[in-house]
Amino acid sequence: MTNLNFCPKCGQPISSRHDGGRERPACLTDGCGFIHFGDFSIGCAGVVTREMDGELQALLVQRGQNPFAGMWQLPGGYAEHDELLSLAVEREVYEESGIVASVHDVLAFRHALAGSGGGPSTNIYVIFRLNYESGEPRVDGDEIKDAGFYSLPEMEAIEGVQGLSKWGIEQALQSVPGSGLSIGAIDERSKRNDWQLYGLTF
Ligand SMILES: [Zn+2]
Repeated sequence: MTNLNFCPKCGQPISSRHDGGRERPACLTDGCGFIHFGDFSIGCAGVVTREMDGELQALLVQRGQNPFAGMWQLPGGYAEHDELLSLAVEREVYEESGIVASVHDVLAFRHALAGSGGGPSTNIYVIFRLNYESGEPRVDGDEIKDAGFYSLPEMEAIEGVQGLSKWGIEQALQSVPGSGLSIGAIDERSKRNDWQLYGLTF
């Protein structure tokens, strides 16, 4: 957990208090009430597939910067705190590859405790299936070095494809589109601008 010395709400020194069954960093200043529950983050990645010459291909991007410079992976990144996750993944796919794609359903998610997944915060990483809409792969050459659509046999020949990305692509190619959790599958409540409900389609 992050070492907090001062309260981010009122600026007074942080102490600790018993809350919800354990000691937590907290501000004891009258009227403040800040408690630090830990650091959490939400990441996303997109499997974008398209058919070329009768063969299904999936989008991969090559990292230009460390950590893992040169590795190939699904396009993705962190969601902003005020951004819906489905929009974050569409944005990341576009920013990293120039491909316009729209969220179809959720293939899987990974939950990693802080430290274990390589990050400083407890992290949920959601792998989406996206429908290809338009565009050809193009990259900034800095954060992302290369991008392209590849079939599974082609991926076998590429060095440094991240294991989780390849697993996500296999999940996408072997499952029925829409068999995962979809937005708007439930009712009008899931179509608001400030929250979305993901459910199974029957
Ligand atoms: Zn405070």
